[in-house]
Amino acid sequence: MIKIGIIGGGAAGFFAAIHAAENGAEVIIYEKTSKTLSKVKVSGGGRCNVTHAAFQTSHLLKNYPRGVNFLKKAFREFQVRDTVEWFESKGVKLKTEEDGRMFPVSNDSQTIVDVLRSEADKKGVRIELKSAVKKIEPKDDGFLLFVGQKAEKVDRVIITSGGSPKQEGYTMYQDLGHDIAAPIPSLFTFNTPGESLKNLPGITVPNAHVRLEGTKLSYEGPLLITHWGVSGPAVLKLSAFGAQWLHDHNYNANAHIRWVSELKEEEIRNTLLKYKSNHPKRKVGGYPLFELPKRLWEHLIEKSGMNSDLVWMNVSKKQINSLEQHIFCYILHVNGKITFKEEFVTAGGVSLKEVNPKTMESRILKGVYFAGEVLDIDGITGGFNFQAAWTTGYIAGKSSTT
Ligand SMILES: Cc1cc2nc3c(=O)[nH]c(=O)nc-3n(C[C@H](O)[C@H](O)[C@H](O)COP(=O)(O)OP(=O)(O)OC[C@H]3O[C@@H](n4cnc5c(N)ncnc54)[C@H](O)[C@@H]3O)c2cc1C
Repeated sequence: MIKIGIIGGGAAGFFAAIHAAENGAEVIIYEKTSKTLSKVKVSGGGRCNVTHAAFQTSHLLKNYPRGVNFLKKAFREFQVRDTVEWFESKGVKLKTEEDGRMFPVSNDSQTIVDVLRSEADKKGVRIELKSAVKKIEPKDDGFLLFVGQKAEKVDRVIITSGGSPKQEGYTMYQDLGHDIAAPIPSLFTFNTPGESLKNLPGITVPNAHVRLEGTKLSYEGPLLITHWGVSGPAVLKLSAFGAQWLHDHNYNANAHIRWVSELKEEEIRNTLLKYKSNHPKRKVGGYPLFELPKRLWEHLIEKSGMNSDLVWMNVSKKQINSLEQHIFCYILHVNGKITFKEEFVTAGGVSLKEVNPKTMESRILKGVYFAGEVLDIDGITGGFNFQAAWTTGYIAGKSSTT
């Protein structure tokens, strides 16, 4: 019987363990803390956003800033439909929310924790808590895993130790000869310390378009103004896809915001001019256009050099131009970031060129497999990170037993 040591008892570790044990292997999970699956437990605000209803691989792949080519091959083996079917086959039904995120119908992450633990238990997976693996020593006929004072001999190793914000978190794998893509933060909100916009905290715009000046990166979606700057799906997406660029520019950049993403500049202008001619005696601040929140509308008016009490017939051409610009391309200076607490993810990790996406086996050292966030793969918020963990965990578990 093949003996497999798994380093890390998170989502990827459990999924790998269950599928390796199902194929007849003797499996031990080494978990350095006193609890397994802690991230699953806190994920999705305690509800666990298990995956995303992106059933076509081409759609699914658009949500991974790093690792697309690798995942393209991996998703052929196990994708969203397989995740849904697997959980359902174990009695956990998933539901889809309006934005595509999928959660257990119980709305409780404990359901996911319980099913993973119970499946691992049924398949005879041994779990060693408070057992940090400190070193992996390759031998002619397997590996020695150094755990605390003892060294355990295994035939194969699956590494599922998760992401690390520090390069030192990957030293053990560098020692095996693996390249590490330097860890950098992904999924953060933008700080705008010098901007008056942050005086409007709590305002949400349903469909803004945000572009990063100097790049081709732009995303649409809800945008939230916070006490420190801007957040919301459009900003988080931009932070993930622009993670490297923003890191290289020390989080100093200009973001261009179009408050109504679906409108062209000309359409905005025509609406402003039409309103001016149809309602010459109305106050500019009285009736927000484009369904923008009142406080934001007043702010845009002020930025365009107008007073809310000004009536439309007295608005000059220059002021119309300025208002059009502030609606179509509001320039916001970003200086710094805040990690998005809901779903903190590290970009970077074990370089993908040294791992076979069809098996998750190291191309450097046979018998070593990787899965989950330890790899240089990351998704945006919405269930994509767990989907990558299920897929890579499944493949590593299955292929390590053959
Ligand atoms: C607050 C929060 C909410 C999130 N919500 C979601 C969500 O709803 N949907 C989504 O898709 N993603 C979410 N994510 C991201 C998601 O949780 C991760 O992508 C996913 O957990 C990665 O799984 P993993 O098994 O690779 O790593 P982890 O879950 O990090 O597990 C790694 C395990 O390895 C252990 N370990 C590390 N080193 C060693 C060692 N040397 N020896 C032994 N054990 C070791 C760690 O203690 C840990 O238990 C969230 C993240 C956070 C922080």
